[in-house]
Amino acid sequence: MQTLELEGGALKQEYARFNYRIYELATPMQPGERRQLRFETLLEERGFPNDNPLTRIVENGTFLNNYEIAPTIGMDRDGLLQDRAKRRKHGLPPELRPAKLEDEAANEFHYLRRDSDWVTAELTLTTDIDQTPIAPGYTVSDTVRDGRRTLVTRTDAPIMHFFSIQSARYAQKKDTWRDRDGKTVELAVYYHPEHEHNVQHMLDAMKRSLEIFSERFSPFQFHQLRILEFPAYESFAQSFANTVPYSERIGFIQNYDEQRSDEMIDLVTYVTAHEVAHQWWAHQIIGAYKQGMTLLSETLAQYSALLVMEALYGPEQIRKFLKGELDGHLRSRGGEILEELPLVRVENQPYIHYQKGSLAMYWLKEVVGEEVVNRALHRLLEQFAFKPAPYPSSTDFLRLLREEAGPEHDQLIADLFERITLYDVRASDARARRLPDGRYEVAFKVHGRKLYADGQGRETEVPLDELFDVGAFAVEPGKKGYTREAVLLMQRQPIKSGEQVVTLVVDKPPRFVGVDPYNKRIDRNSDDNLTPVTMETE
Ligand SMILES: [Zn+2]
Repeated sequence: MQTLELEGGALKQEYARFNYRIYELATPMQPGERRQLRFETLLEERGFPNDNPLTRIVENGTFLNNYEIAPTIGMDRDGLLQDRAKRRKHGLPPELRPAKLEDEAANEFHYLRRDSDWVTAELTLTTDIDQTPIAPGYTVSDTVRDGRRTLVTRTDAPIMHFFSIQSARYAQKKDTWRDRDGKTVELAVYYHPEHEHNVQHMLDAMKRSLEIFSERFSPFQFHQLRILEFPAYESFAQSFANTVPYSERIGFIQNYDEQRSDEMIDLVTYVTAHEVAHQWWAHQIIGAYKQGMTLLSETLAQYSALLVMEALYGPEQIRKFLKGELDGHLRSRGGEILEELPLVRVENQPYIHYQKGSLAMYWLKEVVGEEVVNRALHRLLEQFAFKPAPYPSSTDFLRLLREEAGPEHDQLIADLFERITLYDVRASDARARRLPDGRYEVAFKVHGRKLYADGQGRETEVPLDELFDVGAFAVEPGKKGYTREAVLLMQRQPIKSGEQVVTLVVDKPPRFVGVDPYNKRIDRNSDDNLTPVTMETE
């Protein structure tokens, strides 16, 4: 911080080591009163360091967010001591954990920043003459003077006080999308000129995502949406208001067409859909700063992305996405050092809010129907979008979901969101025979088990009697040649604890059968749900 000036305030105390200053106002601020805060900060690298070089401001491909260059007001939990050893040394609980779900006072603040509600913004950004400056909002002016290029932008809808600014020697590709009411949204991808390969693919994914989300959740709030490539110092994409910085490492330097195979995921579309979904889930509603907060952003973004993938590739390909999520979830929960929490209480744990979130939301919509889930989400947006405190929590979503789904789905909602529920189903010993009418009857063994786990992984077996997908296939799902035509039969039937025989009748010779063949459930072993079929000869 170079300078800071607060209208009507004077510096009272400075803690230089922590970059913390306390100012005193001569007269107290009144409700609704406005004051100006002026500051000047400097972010620079002097010479070059041994390690951790500054990679945010670079010669070509700068990507900063306002946290990195502007002060925050007051005291934020993120400013508290995080290091476990140091916390212990000072007699503090070793973990700094968020407020409990039951803490209603925590709804006063959202989890992105404590000192700000939704804002409007006007930003002025100056950069090198041969670079394109980008900030959220619409261009008010874009001028060149004395060898510098200056952009002024203004927002047209409320945004989170958390925005990105970027500058690089970009090429750009534009497109437009129109919503049902005829509103036009300008789309663009800004990219390094040699990295054009996936750009049209991204624009297509943006259009499909906007179409699905605006029709099923609520209208898109902006008139523009841009993806901006940044260098591979980091490998993530992140959604800010109408602006999505996207690492070259995960979206621009791969040739997915060359790698495309029956097992590959269309990662460009998947990531793009997830980030576009954050324009709703984080940029229309934002969770209160307590347990469950990221369910309302990451889990709902995953759900939204799965809707896009399903629309593009068909429900019979959804296993590609779900199996990856399930395997990742199972691996990570084994490595949990603190406490595995039910989804409704997730404490920013990625294996829960992303991976378990995808599985829980997908199975939820399979059972209660997508329209029911989307209606609950639409009502959640109606109640909380762009509103100041109290901010919504994961329990607000469950309340609306229960209202829409009805009491018959209460147990399902509890199992998916409020408990740690695991299944262990497997298929084996499949034998098929040809029937006199030319069709095929296939019978196979299914073993079923249902478990509840506590936060430390201790499991208790409970009786299982639930509907599961069972299916028969001409080609093993996920393997070469597996298409919609390879699905001979998919139906839902009750599976109970222990061993049972499932019998299916199909028109063509079945090669594989399975229970939960697409891995929609949180099953402790994703690999034993499918089994090959032995054909009995007459
Ligand atoms: Zn996300």
